[in-house]
Amino acid sequence: MICCVVFEIPVCQSAESVPRVGKSIAIAAVGNPDSSMVTSTASWIRRSCRCDVNVKSPVSAVQSSPKGELEYLAGQLKQDDVFLVALVDVPEDVTFRKGIFKSNNVALLNVWALRPARILETQSLRDQYAGRVLKEAMYAVGALLGLGECPNPQCVMSTWENDAQLDAKGGNFCPPCDAKAEKLFKALGVHRLE
Ligand SMILES: [Zn+2]
Repeated sequence: MICCVVFEIPVCQSAESVPRVGKSIAIAAVGNPDSSMVTSTASWIRRSCRCDVNVKSPVSAVQSSPKGELEYLAGQLKQDDVFLVALVDVPEDVTFRKGIFKSNNVALLNVWALRPARILETQSLRDQYAGRVLKEAMYAVGALLGLGECPNPQCVMSTWENDAQLDAKGGNFCPPCDAKAEKLFKALGVHRLE
């Protein structure tokens, strides 16, 4: 006797019917910043914010003005990017340091301006530089998210007036800022990591 068993074959879901996992924060290198600095900054944001972070393809050409850069990068935002933090390597003679353009969902950081020395000869100088970049990138994430300035000097959302203050402050949100960020990330549909 031939026994015929019919198995239920699962029907593949089309791409459209698969639920979206949520949006992510985008980070992009513009110009020629150290690629390891970009990945370590992305990892810090991912860990600290417990969010997906999408490292975009580097953009080698620097636009001639911050306005041009802003317009170009705003055009690079995809549907799943909640906002974009650009680490821009602009030569030291440019006075532009940073711009947070909330209505465009883009932040521009001139990472060159954060270098503690022109030539980073020692590991401690390289670490100092990386720390400054990740704190400024975290501040930009908080500002784009809608967090205000924080009076807690250890919080990454505190303001700084000189390099010593930037070096002294922490790189994470304080508990009240973190609680606000949690709600704002949720409202924006950002995918949270466990
Ligand atoms: Zn705070």
